[in-house]
Amino acid sequence: MKFSIQSTIFLGLLAVIGFIGFNFYIIGTRLPERSYSQFLDDIAAGSVREVTIRDGQITVTGGSEPDFTTYSPDVPALIGLLRNHDVTINTRPASSINGILKDMLLVLLLLGGWFIFSKKKSAGSSDFSRGKIFQSRHQSLTKVSFEDVAGITEAREELWEIIDFLKDPAKYSGLGGRIPKGVLLQGPPGTGKTLLAKAIAGEASVPFYSIGGSDFVEMFAGLGASRVRNLFSEAKKKAPCIIFIDEIDAIGGKRSAESGNGSSDEREQTLNALLVEMDGFNSNETVIVVAATNRSDILDSALLRPGRFDRRITLHLPDIKGRLKILEVHARKVAVSNNVDLSLIARSTPGFSGAELANLVNEAALLAARREKISISLKEFEDAQDKIMMGLERKNAVISESARRLTAYHEAGHAAIAKLLPETDPLHKITIIPRGQSLGLTQQLPLAEHLTYTRSYLLNRIMILLGGRLAEEVIFGGLTTGASNDLQTATRIAHRLVCEFGMNEKIGPVSCLEYLQAGIGDASAVHWQQSQQTLQDIDKEIRLHIFKCYEDTRVLIEKHGEFIHMLAESLLLNETIDGEEVDIIYRCYLGRRQG
Ligand code: ADP
Ligand code: ZN
Repeated sequence: MKFSIQSTIFLGLLAVIGFIGFNFYIIGTRLPERSYSQFLDDIAAGSVREVTIRDGQITVTGGSEPDFTTYSPDVPALIGLLRNHDVTINTRPASSINGILKDMLLVLLLLGGWFIFSKKKSAGSSDFSRGKIFQSRHQSLTKVSFEDVAGITEAREELWEIIDFLKDPAKYSGLGGRIPKGVLLQGPPGTGKTLLAKAIAGEASVPFYSIGGSDFVEMFAGLGASRVRNLFSEAKKKAPCIIFIDEIDAIGGKRSAESGNGSSDEREQTLNALLVEMDGFNSNETVIVVAATNRSDILDSALLRPGRFDRRITLHLPDIKGRLKILEVHARKVAVSNNVDLSLIARSTPGFSGAELANLVNEAALLAARREKISISLKEFEDAQDKIMMGLERKNAVISESARRLTAYHEAGHAAIAKLLPETDPLHKITIIPRGQSLGLTQQLPLAEHLTYTRSYLLNRIMILLGGRLAEEVIFGGLTTGASNDLQTATRIAHRLVCEFGMNEKIGPVSCLEYLQAGIGDASAVHWQQSQQTLQDIDKEIRLHIFKCYEDTRVLIEKHGEFIHMLAESLLLNETIDGEEVDIIYRCYLGRRQG
């Protein structure tokens, strides 16, 4: 099997080399080459009579000097010069060898891909000789640095400690402090988790071992666990180093109560092996395990215990500033035309992940190459974006413009009410960047931790929650399902206000919690004669609170509609605004009202 693949590749290579050689042969004897500057001098001296331009290659014939060729970096600019000196210009379509080379490259790529693929498969099936695989396939010294990862300022600080530790473990163990063992990177796909793990290894200049969680699982019984052990024993020999486990949820998902079927047994064994290994490090084995997941909610709590993955870093989809930084990182690696404004592209790619932005730059570069341009212009970026968006729309990942507007007004509603009411927590951040299930988020941060809440604080809180839905209703006139979470939280607060905090006049300063727990006619609830009447009263009072808050909020929103417009516009433009920016918009709004 292996032999036949190799011999096929060998034959393929031979064919390619033969073909290219043949092409060069038929092109015939080549003219001497001269420098471009010499060529320019010749033009200036008037010794160039006739040129043939093909694909940037210039062949100079019939001049006073012997014929020669040169290469122009910028053909369009050259044309003007040639015309000025009355040089006859012949042009030829792009040389066919170029096309042939490209085709050949494609064939080579396909062959290579097939080779790797079939190797991978056969590695899986001949895997009874356990272990081995890791050294050869998974270990590498990476050259990725933090410079390559954009928009991770917060995470960076936290990671420096780990890097410092990897660089000088003795310093830490000498102090007797607890050494870090595991870092969990959580965030949606393509937000740079793998990249960041590599950057940690790169910054600390230590080896990087990587394995995907699913690699462990789809294996034969017991193999996952033994792979874990092999990986760790291999890594310990090379310590200090980093082990990266991608998609850790594949093995580290919550253990099910009934672990009947084989695959979950297998997973459990693998997970246990991992836990044993992580607990078994001692201070002279400086191995840091970095794991990535986009489903941290389903992780087994055993993984998150102290001494395991107790450091967690969350990566988000980038906002407009983050996207610009990511675009800049990737644009550095290709030739982008000077007049391309990357911030324009950042602005027009809401919802794109880092990986999608990297892909965008790459696609644009490919398009530019196909169009035989020397640098990437805005046109290529736009076309590449169209192409990617079409792919994304199928995945439903890109939000339509109208949904964005609606979200902007919804969040503006929350924020405006929070700003307009007294006794509320300061606004921290408002965003319309989708995260998981939510399309947007308005975040308030209390100045200090609340020990108790006042009644008006709770009612204001309800109003803030209702502000989102009301802004949608007042401005767009319709209702959407987007507020269900808000309504749930608001109702819960009203419920506690009535039943738990005794803040409702009709029900009075009575706690109804036990009362509600007792069933009607429940013998154990001796002193509670639970009546249908009281239950109805509770229900009614909760409703009254919500309705009252709803009407008060509506009044505020109608009165301060312009403030909401201003907030929403700013959100649509910037996607994320912070408390300070809200303050500025508010002052601006007040100024306009007075003026
Ligand atoms: P994840 O592991 O979170 O799915 P990756 O690390 O595999 O994401 O990201 C894929 C690619 O996307 C990276 O190799 C990089 O080119 C690009 N990328 C993602 N996030 C960033 C970022 N913050 N800065 C620069 N490039 C990024
Ligand atoms: Zn909301």
